[in-house]
Amino acid sequence: MTIRYSAPGRVNLIGEHTDYNLGWSLPIALPQRTVVTLDPSDSDALEVRSDGADGVVRIPLTTKPGDVTGWASYVAGVVWALRMAGHSVPGGSISITSEVPIGSGLSSSAALECAALGALTSGLHIDRLDRARLAQRAENEYVGAPTGLLDQLSSLFGAASTALLIDFRTLSVSPVPFDPSASDVVLLLIDSRQRHGHVDSEYAARRLSCERAAADVGVVSLREIQDRGLSALDGVTDPVDARRARHVLTENQRVFDVVAALNDSDFTKVGRIFTASHVSMRDDFGITTAHIDLIADTAVAAGALGARMTGGGFGGCVIALVALDQADAVGAAVRSAVRAAGYDEPVITRTFAADGAMPG
Ligand code: ADP
Ligand code: MG
Repeated sequence: MTIRYSAPGRVNLIGEHTDYNLGWSLPIALPQRTVVTLDPSDSDALEVRSDGADGVVRIPLTTKPGDVTGWASYVAGVVWALRMAGHSVPGGSISITSEVPIGSGLSSSAALECAALGALTSGLHIDRLDRARLAQRAENEYVGAPTGLLDQLSSLFGAASTALLIDFRTLSVSPVPFDPSASDVVLLLIDSRQRHGHVDSEYAARRLSCERAAADVGVVSLREIQDRGLSALDGVTDPVDARRARHVLTENQRVFDVVAALNDSDFTKVGRIFTASHVSMRDDFGITTAHIDLIADTAVAAGALGARMTGGGFGGCVIALVALDQADAVGAAVRSAVRAAGYDEPVITRTFAADGAMPG
């Protein structure tokens, strides 16, 4: 019997680099999904193919980290993580189709893990937080990518017209209404197509800055001083570390402010907070680029309610909230500014909060 399971990509509305500081983020699941189709058999292996990659890869059910590399390692990692957790995994053949752009920062990796996990565990009751942890373990320990839980939680808990308030200390996920279309507002997703080569080392440096700042003020994570105000950072020795930490504390506050504004359907206010978040990522956290700044600034100058880079930084995507009747004009202004500056043509789409992982 053929089993089909799908899971979406995600985009973070606000709350950037807050996860490893045990703060808060507010992602949505995207309408683009990855679909995994499993034809189970008595085989002791899975044969995996994808419309997004060449060739067929054979994954023995007893696979261990290091056995499979490349794109199929995301599926092999899920097989391994499930077996490590004591679950049995069927053999057979898997085919993958996906609409999630690969490597754009929209989490095609978590979409693939969560869809594969769903297909391989049909009939088993594993709650969504445990699923997220299994998928993360696959990505961290099998694939070897040191990522947090944001992507998997978004893909698993996503729901139509809903953003997800994630608390990274308790790992609680709370739904927040997110339906700009009901207010004649559009969420534009602008993929710069800029990919930076130094993301990993820059990410590590930001984490270290945050850890040093926390240690300077005598706490383990910046979360612990969230309620003490920015003067709590007076004890941070290095001025760069202090700026990095200031981004984290102000960004957490912006997450709360966006949640409050969304509860009032006040997209003008949400837009303003988006723009403030971009400025904080640019000036305090130092993770934007001239190319990304140009996209965000042009969107706002052309009439967007607000715009910010989303994701880890140094390229990737910008999101902008725009009144419906301005959306085409903002897109056109961004395209022409980017072209005039000699950067790659951006990919601009209108997006919305969609359902999370599910059968079918
Ligand atoms: P992102 O998650 O932002 O798209 P990552 O680098 O984390 O970027 O993950 C992208 C990788 O995940 C790809 O290089 C590929 O190895 C794998 N991948 C994701 N989706 C697919 C797919 N549909 N088919 C094959 N491989 C995929
Ligand atoms: Mg990824």
